[in-house]
Amino acid sequence: MAEKEDLEKLPVNSLVHAPLENAEHLYRYFSFLRENPPQSIIFEGGTQETREALALQYAAFFNCKQAKDGKPCFICSTCKQILIERVFNDLLFFDTKAGVKVEDIREKRAVWGVAPYAGAYRVTVFNEAQKLGLESANTLLKTLEDPRPQNLFVILTPQREQLLKTIVSRSFVFILPHKQSGVVSSDAQGSQKNEANKIVDTVMQDYLYALLNFWTTGIGWFEKSTNKEIVSVEFALNFFLAIQQQLRFVFLKDCSNSFSCALEKMSLAELQRIQKTIALAEEALLLKPSNVDVPLVLDWFATHALVEK
Ligand SMILES: [Zn+2]
Repeated sequence: MAEKEDLEKLPVNSLVHAPLENAEHLYRYFSFLRENPPQSIIFEGGTQETREALALQYAAFFNCKQAKDGKPCFICSTCKQILIERVFNDLLFFDTKAGVKVEDIREKRAVWGVAPYAGAYRVTVFNEAQKLGLESANTLLKTLEDPRPQNLFVILTPQREQLLKTIVSRSFVFILPHKQSGVVSSDAQGSQKNEANKIVDTVMQDYLYALLNFWTTGIGWFEKSTNKEIVSVEFALNFFLAIQQQLRFVFLKDCSNSFSCALEKMSLAELQRIQKTIALAEEALLLKPSNVDVPLVLDWFATHALVEK
């Protein structure tokens, strides 16, 4: 934990004091979450500095009385305490750079169990959460498993794959652009696309539309999921990746095809459900990739992603 006297030792993050440049879409997303924020959110991607700045601004946004358009005001005493001093009664900042022991997390359980001091939201940030030890990560997981009203957990990491899958499946994942420009860079693999991949992309699109069609009409999916020529563990993982990429466009408010436009019409709860169902399906695929029944996993996803079990 970064205590007050340790603050001088921490590098000053200049990005935190003003809205991030060209990041209006990120703030629109904060605004979107305002009414019903998820208990746990993962900020993935971007740089370490932007993740940290955004986490603090998220904490300020949910506590600042003058917050507007998804942004905190940056000038009130609450904003100053959170963004500049980083000392605020309802902010807990676990920084793996300063070392996080499992006891540090355990001793906050009592705090998470009571209402926040200021009455808005207590925000707990886990900076560079991929560096938490296994025991600490498991303690965090246990914390997230219980409903903790008025507590928001913000987990920062370059890539969700570096976290416990069970933490990811309980969290809402928000992908930051990799460049500060606010433009989402193409994926590393994306820039190396070759002709073969383009063919796969067409197949993938076909599957995305088949899924959408199934969600709308209830037909046309099962002949796709059982097509042995195409469906494999690798294909299924890529399929889920493709859906997550489409989800990213929704959060950027940039619907560019019928799949992402359909997602854009969904509520936050519905989108969260799709994300969680994907995480569980991926878990099943990775558990025993050699003998997993892939069509069964795909069908389970298609039939559970939209409705309560
Ligand atoms: Zn403020």
